[in-house]
Amino acid sequence: MSAQPTPAQPRSAQLMSGTALAAEIVADVARRAEALVERTGVRPGLATVLVGDDPASVTYVTMKRNRAAKAGIDSRLVRLPAATTTAELVAAVRALSEDPTVHGILLQHPVPAHIDERAAFEAIDPAKDVDGVTMHSFAAMAFGEPGFASCTPGGIMRLLDAHNVELTGRQAVVVGRSPILGKPMGMLLLARDATVTYCHSRTVDLASHLAAADILVAAVGRPEFIKGRDIKPGAVVVDAGYNPGNVGDVDFAGAMERASLVTPVPGGVGPMTIAVLLEQTVTAAEAAGCM
Ligand code: NAP
Repeated sequence: MSAQPTPAQPRSAQLMSGTALAAEIVADVARRAEALVERTGVRPGLATVLVGDDPASVTYVTMKRNRAAKAGIDSRLVRLPAATTTAELVAAVRALSEDPTVHGILLQHPVPAHIDERAAFEAIDPAKDVDGVTMHSFAAMAFGEPGFASCTPGGIMRLLDAHNVELTGRQAVVVGRSPILGKPMGMLLLARDATVTYCHSRTVDLASHLAAADILVAAVGRPEFIKGRDIKPGAVVVDAGYNPGNVGDVDFAGAMERASLVTPVPGGVGPMTIAVLLEQTVTAAEAAGCM
């Protein structure tokens, strides 16, 4: 009589919560902000530029400004109408680049389609590019030189490190290649000696890439696009997606059954992005205070 196959044991992944780690980082930011005020009389200042009234962008900006205020960072909002031209936006961003009371500049993405977003980003002084969106910051990251990281990938690296995820030699798959998220994410993983594959909308046989991923970062912007069955058993799954209804790019329940570590949505990558933004703002203010 042949032996009965043993049914696969249901697994349950561990959560990689961003909320607790982000709170630690923000508490440290608040301490550093107060120390800077005591030492120099200068309070770190973050200017946020919002063009138009896209409801999601309004929510993100409000959230970031509230967190900044709680961390002792002065927060200024520059709100421009949806009809703002590229030249007007560039001029507004340049004025902030030249304002000594502003240490960090965040231009909320996306801007209306008629605006040349790259031109507007490049008007940010690299020393104030706390969101890591300029070509200078991107090149610094790519060459492993000091500079401000793109906040979401930077936050994801912190989360992976906090959970002691081994990266060297492991197969990392990043689904998405946007300039603010997917592309820098892969480069940061590469800099840590992971073997990186980028997948995107033209990728042929996405499933075979996903099945090989020891570390999977989903940055697509499609609700529950990646299913539990797509995930390699024991993989580390980072869901950077944030879709309407607080839904990520990964089927959370399915991932919890297959993976070893999973970020929740909300409470995973999102809080880490804001924490890194605030941390980089206080770093920029400290650097300016030294001059
Ligand atoms: P994006 O600019 O729209 O980029 C999406 C990427 O997904 C593109 O590279 C696209 O490929 C790829 N893609 C689309 N359909 C695909 C498919 N069928 N198969 C494989 N790849 C596909 O979006 P993003 O700004 O990077 O944002 C991605 C997600 O992250 C969104 O949900 C966003 O809300 C979220 N996000 C979260 C945070 C946070 O703090 N938590 C921050 C930023 C973004 P192509 O390049 O070929 O078009």
